Amino acid sequence: RRLDSRSGLTAGLLGEIQTPINTEPVESVYEITGELGRGKFAVVKRCVEKATGKVFAAKFLRKRRRGRDCRAEVVHEMAVLEVARNNPRVVNLHAAYETDHDIVLILEYAAGGEIFDHCVSEELLPEAQIIRLIRQTLEGVHHLHQSNLVHLDLKPQNILLTSPSPPGDIKIVDFGLARRLGAVGELREILGTPEYVAPEILNYEPITTATDLWSVGVIAYMLVTGESPFAGDDKQETYLNVSQVNVDFSREAFSRVSELAVDFIRKLLVKVPEDRPSAADCMSHPWLWQQQHYQGPEPVTPRPVRERSCGTKWAAPPEDLEDK
Ligand code: ADP
Ligand code: MG
Repeated sequence: RRLDSRSGLTAGLLGEIQTPINTEPVESVYEITGELGRGKFAVVKRCVEKATGKVFAAKFLRKRRRGRDCRAEVVHEMAVLEVARNNPRVVNLHAAYETDHDIVLILEYAAGGEIFDHCVSEELLPEAQIIRLIRQTLEGVHHLHQSNLVHLDLKPQNILLTSPSPPGDIKIVDFGLARRLGAVGELREILGTPEYVAPEILNYEPITTATDLWSVGVIAYMLVTGESPFAGDDKQETYLNVSQVNVDFSREAFSRVSELAVDFIRKLLVKVPEDRPSAADCMSHPWLWQQQHYQGPEPVTPRPVRERSCGTKWAAPPEDLEDK
């Protein structure tokens, strides 16, 4: 195994990777089929490992971006995936290849697509399913934060599902903006997608784990309402909506949303990062206690009663937080 130990001096990037970067042509080992998604500097394609018939997702990351050599950024993304390897809510890195233009990450395939599709669909998911997906997302985020990693680009396009319907388990992807906290002092950067980023990022204030929790609030909001909480007509308006936390829970979009869901989201979409609950705090919010191990038909129960709570800590849940 080759060890790439170029020190990550570029803005706290990780430089140590264990996964060997193969230089043989990726097409000789994998049959590359359809496109799964694309971003600014990456294309993700479905591929089949010829030797095993197993399906993977191949993320082709361009090494040159805006005329600059960005290999260190790609190596960083690999290194973060390696740090998160024991996190079951993070997509697994299977292998890596290098071509003239790209580094290709062979990733565990998430066959259910993006949870984004469930945010814009005519038919929203039942709240019990949303609760399950948010709980899994929090587990993943909690695990990352315990490793001193912040994702910084959590959004419905970067939370995938292992199977489509009924929705499977979540897998967090896209660690291009992820950073390790604490290593080289304070982290301030302008990054992410305005619609989903926390006010402290727009204001160039220090980034902490609380930044990811804001995004979890946005994701939960979108899953229960089918709307993006801060999206304006243009970038300017979106920035303003985010930094003023211009969000309205009394609208028609919330008419069928439980009070507990609203309470959960309200506690995450707060301006001051220190006032947001941590991922661990969130997991004991009463919204997430519901139907934890329930597998039968929908019970006939009244809507949860409005509950008033202050602060960000909740009592311990009745049962363990682990998924079955
Ligand atoms: P980018 O940095 O360009 O946003 P992502 O890693 O987010 O790249 O991948 C882009 C899109 O490709 C994702 O939003 C998703 O739709 C799809 N995708 C990425 N990884 C996988 C995967 N492991 N399995 C299935 N689809 C994937
Ligand atoms: Mg992405």
